[in-house]
Amino acid sequence: MAAQQRVDNKYVYDFAEGNKDLKDLLGGKGANLAEMTNLGLPVPPGFTITTEACKAYLATGREPAGLAEQIEAHLESLERGMGRKLGDPADPLLVSVRSGAKFSMPGMMETVLNVGLNDRSVVGLSAQAGGNDRFAWDSYRRLIQMFGKTVCEVPGEEFEHAIDEAKRAKGTTNDLDLDADDLRALVDTYKKIFAEHTGREFPQEPREQLDLAIRAVFESWNAERAIVYRRQERIPADLGTAVNVVAMVFGNLGPDSGTGVAFTRDPASGAQGIYGDYLANAQGEDVVAGIRNTVPLQELERIDRKSYDELLDYMARLEGHYKDLCDIEFTIERGKLWMLQTRVGKRTAAAAFVIAGQLVDEGLIDLDEALHRVNGAQLAQLMFPRFKLDHEFEPVAKGIGASPGAAVGKVVFSSDRAVELAAEGEPVILVRRETNPDDLNGMIAARGILTSRGGKTSHAAVVARGMGKTCVSGADELDVNVPAKTFTVAGQTVNEGDVVSVDGTTGNVYLGEVPVMPSEVVQYFEGTLDPERIDDPLVRAVHRIMTHADATRRLRVRTNADTGADAARARRFGAEGIGLCRTEHMFLGDRRELVERLILAGTDREREDALAALLPLQRADFIEIFREMAGLPVTVRLIDPPLHEFLPPLEQLAVNVAVAQERGEDVAKEEALLAAVRRMHEENPMLGLRGVRLGLVIPGLFAMQVRAIAEASVEVTRAGGSACPEIMVPLVGAVQELETVRAEAEKIIAEVVGDSGVEVLIGTMIEVPRAALTAGQIAEAAQFFSFGTNDLTQMAWGFSRDDVEGAFFWRYLELGIFGISPFESIDRDGVGRLVRIAAEEGRAARPGLKLGVCGEHGGDPDSVHFFHEVGLDYVSCSPFRVPVARLEAGRAAVHPTGSDPR
Ligand code: PEP
Ligand code: MG
Repeated sequence: MAAQQRVDNKYVYDFAEGNKDLKDLLGGKGANLAEMTNLGLPVPPGFTITTEACKAYLATGREPAGLAEQIEAHLESLERGMGRKLGDPADPLLVSVRSGAKFSMPGMMETVLNVGLNDRSVVGLSAQAGGNDRFAWDSYRRLIQMFGKTVCEVPGEEFEHAIDEAKRAKGTTNDLDLDADDLRALVDTYKKIFAEHTGREFPQEPREQLDLAIRAVFESWNAERAIVYRRQERIPADLGTAVNVVAMVFGNLGPDSGTGVAFTRDPASGAQGIYGDYLANAQGEDVVAGIRNTVPLQELERIDRKSYDELLDYMARLEGHYKDLCDIEFTIERGKLWMLQTRVGKRTAAAAFVIAGQLVDEGLIDLDEALHRVNGAQLAQLMFPRFKLDHEFEPVAKGIGASPGAAVGKVVFSSDRAVELAAEGEPVILVRRETNPDDLNGMIAARGILTSRGGKTSHAAVVARGMGKTCVSGADELDVNVPAKTFTVAGQTVNEGDVVSVDGTTGNVYLGEVPVMPSEVVQYFEGTLDPERIDDPLVRAVHRIMTHADATRRLRVRTNADTGADAARARRFGAEGIGLCRTEHMFLGDRRELVERLILAGTDREREDALAALLPLQRADFIEIFREMAGLPVTVRLIDPPLHEFLPPLEQLAVNVAVAQERGEDVAKEEALLAAVRRMHEENPMLGLRGVRLGLVIPGLFAMQVRAIAEASVEVTRAGGSACPEIMVPLVGAVQELETVRAEAEKIIAEVVGDSGVEVLIGTMIEVPRAALTAGQIAEAAQFFSFGTNDLTQMAWGFSRDDVEGAFFWRYLELGIFGISPFESIDRDGVGRLVRIAAEEGRAARPGLKLGVCGEHGGDPDSVHFFHEVGLDYVSCSPFRVPVARLEAGRAAVHPTGSDPR
């Protein structure tokens, strides 16, 4: 059996064996290295250890059977291909060991370079490099440093301190001034540091180095920062990482060597062209780490024309092949170009739309694919406000617009402080010289990120773009002093807590608070965009993709609105009706007094008078809304919250009464009010006298609302408009509740509507689990269902929507019990199942039953895909999310699985 398993489990793939579609197994990096190898691009030879091997290791704490032998076999073939042996003292093969998960997790996991170097092969490496001792010893010290830190958990600062010390002794601040002897001495120091912290000598056996490095990469999948990143990016926790073992090529062999990153289009704006950074005489991670300042990629044309032309050719080939923006890492070793990585590149929201539009123009993709390549979260980002700038505001510094948006907040200098202040509700801007993976929590908490070093591909830039967070990187006029918690710029000192504004689109940094204005995409939706800007590439792309989404989607999109102004705005955003008009706000403001009279009524007569006074006011409310939504359906929900919400709070009232009594004032009225509030007090008002229960208990309340709706409809229609009202009963759990309300409503409607031609539908919310489970019965009495997924979530889970998010959701998220709050995105397995049952049984009882959703989930991208799958007719969401829902409904129609292109 064991022998059988060995044969079946293939854990190692040569680059020539894989392809780009094997990301699950080979990770993104491995799959794409294989793809480039097969395209004939110059990729250093290597192999990939699969995610399956990683999962098996993480499950058992041991390498799975057969893995060691397979690595041995592939290593031998790599050695044959290169004509060198791993760690051979005379002519060593060195390898890099790199992580590579299915979804890119920049800087989250481990890499070890120069594996195979030891006290003897360092001499061979020097000979290989034409007697370049400096290079050989520099490579060796890098191996000990990376291996020590990532494989053996030696604190990284120890090594950094030692190299700083060596530079100080030499009177320099530049690594390049350290010569071979200095580096040889540094290797000795590093080895001592290693031995002190690990209790053993630095391993000299190359195969042991390799095996330990592979194991460290497997384990880095479960490092704290990787877990935080996955949670933030909603990457499943059980995918595991692949490990790539690749023959080393060197960018640090002298001025004719170097390393860089390239994008086939601008990942910030989407503009066509060549973008990237290049760093001469540098190895591997130096560019991404933003440690030394890079030059723009275009400079490479001057430095090494041949490699530059070759690179451009490969970039064009890769873009044509992947039919998308690609990002690339490359190294030039003594004038020979090597491709180290490619992938479909991360991009900003604006670039995603612009590039999708361009690729359609270029005939590389069709409109369905363009629609699939953007998403609602990106569109939402484009709807953020931007800075409103006039001459008063002068930037104090300009960095690189690494991730767009306008962020204003208090300056903080550490991740912990960012988390602390943000938890107190303060907007913060995290300011660092450069960020590293340890800053992740602070980056999540901050409104924006500002660094003084690093380019568009630095850690700060890449991670912020992924999160959709505003970021300015490389603002090198800033002199950041983290221990002193200050930065100086243009002769001014900025302290922790001072307010700054950062513009992630232009890279500008301002002191103080800059006012913000709406985005051009919002102006486009609103129809207020300056006509000259209509041709802006972003606006054109949004227009084109939204038009296609509208033509493609099956789900209608309505809005939740309860004022004429909201209805009008939502209509401009493309709403096709109102899915939820909450009537409760109509009982507040200067109507409170009438509502108090209604609640406190001692006799039928008093109550009827109060209702009669409310009727014309309600009618006017509905007229305004029906006018704005002429010709489109408007679902008006009868009053839902418990009535005591319309009265003053108990404690405040009790104090007022006591104080007034003390003063000897007449408190009869206040006392009556206090008694009423006490009478109505509920321990669990969310589960108490609200919704339909209230309508059945207070005679005439629902009847007044029904009459106001019917009268408003008739008035608007008679005046030449067209009202399409749908009356919705909240919190129904049993068909009898609905039948009772409906019988009374139908009588009133028949009386008011007469021959006006107005048709009024009567339906119900499905927001109590019992309603979902008896949907077949309820459908007999309902002309439509609208899922109230806020209450349905609350009641399905049994937790109070007003309390739990602050109380314990953080812990549930931490433990992975939730991937995301179920109030934000529909819990498909539980609440979603109730929705599915109700939809199926409701439609079975009443074919053609109209189905919608009006809980918050109606505007959540992932939930929209679920509602499409379940076959609802529409989703309804707040006006601002209407474009997002339209887009996602279109995406759901072209890609029914709802997968997110990452
Ligand atoms: C719901 O419960 O989902 C709903 C839309 O109603 P409300 O949020 O007003 O309770
Ligand atoms: Mg509700």
